[in-house]
Amino acid sequence: MKLVLLGPPGAGKGTQAANLAKKYQIPAISTGHIIRAAISAQTPMGKIAEGFIARGELVPDDTVLEIVRNRLKEDDCQCGYILDGFPRTLEQAKMMDEHEIGVDVVVDIEVPDEVLIERLSGRRECKKCGATYHVLHNPPKVSEKCDQCGGELVRRSDDVPEVIRKRLAVYHSQTEPLKEYYRSQEKLTIVYGQEELAETTHAVLSAVAEAEAGL
Ligand code: AMP
Repeated sequence: MKLVLLGPPGAGKGTQAANLAKKYQIPAISTGHIIRAAISAQTPMGKIAEGFIARGELVPDDTVLEIVRNRLKEDDCQCGYILDGFPRTLEQAKMMDEHEIGVDVVVDIEVPDEVLIERLSGRRECKKCGATYHVLHNPPKVSEKCDQCGGELVRRSDDVPEVIRKRLAVYHSQTEPLKEYYRSQEKLTIVYGQEELAETTHAVLSAVAEAEAGL
């Protein structure tokens, strides 16, 4: 299955991508995670992306497409994949179609802006594996250590109020139009993020199972 997770920053795409990856045994690919790793390693792509991420802007379409195309060539993607955070512009979606990067199902996780601001402000991410936590709602068992791999938990530099506001504005203007794009292709399923993580997880898994049954 070839799945795209849409939704604003902080909607829980990463968490749900991990659940779906486990259930369907296909890789979850986060363009944000790949870009942050490239910035840490100061690769040429990382150097290009750094300023965009710091300002809460999108990295240029060509750069992100290249990242995804390279990742999808790997063996583990041959039976399907979950794209978390890509595509994020109409142009990227059109480029995917041109390059025959398939999409079977698109799940959009909707969460109101006020909730996202609170979530992103308390979010912590594992430097090593990218797992996410929240200081109040989903703290790690040992303070500042990842439950899964023991990596160090950090606050992302773009999870600060000014950049969060910018990222939400970018989402509404550039990414939200994708809903219409995929609705018209009859691939879109909308899930409303709930206060309880388990309820959102249940809603996402049910939506994907239902969509898969119709493929
Ligand atoms: P994320 O981890 O998905 O919240 O992404 C963090 C940042 O990485 C975004 O704010 C963008 O600057 C960049 N990024 C991730 N995915 C994309 C994409 N598909 N297109 C452009 N920029 C992206």
